[in-house]
Amino acid sequence: MNPLTDTMNTVETMFTATDRSALEELKRRIPIEHYLQTELQWQPDRRLAPYHLTGLCPLHAETQPSFSIQTRKNLFYCHGCGQGGDVIRLVEILHQMTFPQALAHLRSRLGGSNLLEDAVAYYRTQLLCFPQALQFLAQRGISDPTTIQAMRIGYAPGACLRAHLRLLGYHAEHIRQSGLINPQGRDTLYRRIVFPYGDNLYGRSLDASMPHRFLRASKGGLYRWNSLHLAPEILLVEGFFDVAALWQAGFAHATCGGGAHLNRTQFQQLITGPRIVWIVFDRDDAGEQAAASLSLRLQQAGQMVRRVRLPYPHDPASYFAAGGDAVGFRALLREALP
Ligand SMILES: [Zn+2]
Repeated sequence: MNPLTDTMNTVETMFTATDRSALEELKRRIPIEHYLQTELQWQPDRRLAPYHLTGLCPLHAETQPSFSIQTRKNLFYCHGCGQGGDVIRLVEILHQMTFPQALAHLRSRLGGSNLLEDAVAYYRTQLLCFPQALQFLAQRGISDPTTIQAMRIGYAPGACLRAHLRLLGYHAEHIRQSGLINPQGRDTLYRRIVFPYGDNLYGRSLDASMPHRFLRASKGGLYRWNSLHLAPEILLVEGFFDVAALWQAGFAHATCGGGAHLNRTQFQQLITGPRIVWIVFDRDDAGEQAAASLSLRLQQAGQMVRRVRLPYPHDPASYFAAGGDAVGFRALLREALP
């Protein structure tokens, strides 16, 4: 039996698969030898094999090296004091920390760790665990895994995010300040499909009640504007599902403002630089009125605009979900109004 692989942290067996993969990611990003070198100026004594280091044990006093690291597995073992395990176990023993404290300590060493990004990563793994969420996307015509990945679409099942973030070492107060957990301690996004954009999240409820929810009240700029702002043509749609449907159909230059009414930032973005803005709003009264009014304002600001009229009563997502294709959509672009 190999003592290095034999000393697994039993605490881990309590966690879900998602939690475990987050832990594995954390451990993978902090090699034990790097941690010891930066933390204690520890130096290996010699290299036994390509992936095997030995040196003086940082956990007990000794003069002959009996501490070894298997770098490929990122595990340590000391033949002198008999202690071993992964980098989290090392921190627990070295600093006499609890498991959550050791996680927090390691995450702070990583630097740049981002609570919102970790939440997004969690939501993305959850999407694959909840058939009802994938079904909801499929009903709206979104089923292409490449699009789902590229847009980083996830699912917030609710009642589990806080525990996950705590496990990653985030403090309760930090989590609460993020807005991801409400003051009552519950997940803000609950049973919602999640679209990340900028430092905000849009959550679409699987239920009819309160369908739209933004993590932050201020919607910020247009969706993924950083990658689109130089494009000569922009498809402006109302919602995130519309962007996804167009993306999936091969129209990657679509953006949205999270509704038919643009805020000042979003409007300013559209009128800077020469481009053609194709407005593809919902084909209902509200959508048509908003498109007409926006078109006028954009033209007054000197922008080239076309209004695309989908067949009544479709929005781009429902148009493609109902069997519309790229050829049909291109025909609609040709018939667009000024
Ligand atoms: Zn030792």
